[in-house]
Amino acid sequence: MCKHILNAQVAIRAPCCKQWFDCAECHAETQDHRLAKTAEMTLMCKKCRKAFRKDMSNYEESDEYCPHCDNHYVLEAKTPQAVLGVEGDDPRINARMLKDERVKRDPSRSLFGQDLSDRVG
Ligand SMILES: [Zn+2]
Ligand SMILES: [Zn+2]
Ligand SMILES: [Zn+2]
Repeated sequence: MCKHILNAQVAIRAPCCKQWFDCAECHAETQDHRLAKTAEMTLMCKKCRKAFRKDMSNYEESDEYCPHCDNHYVLEAKTPQAVLGVEGDDPRINARMLKDERVKRDPSRSLFGQDLSDRVG
């Protein structure tokens, strides 16, 4: 099972190694090569277990449904934690990143600062 997208509705067939993955992260973790990009993805609906192809360069809203069983397979991904590649436009993620940066303060810096302020006259 995919641990990145908990509600994955489709499996993706990687064009490079011809194996099925739940998401690109799964491919990255188990393979030592980059996921090949292709305009025509081969997908498999997890509900009816039937494979179908999608032209990703010409993707429409009606393409979000399985052609066999009409399962709505494009869902907002439920991820256990914030997705990698944090430089998004999501202000919540940005705020959390800034906070983390402030926590990691270099202690040697504050030491130097004290030395300077001690210099009197
Ligand atoms: Zn591959
Ligand atoms: Zn995954
Ligand atoms: Zn289906």
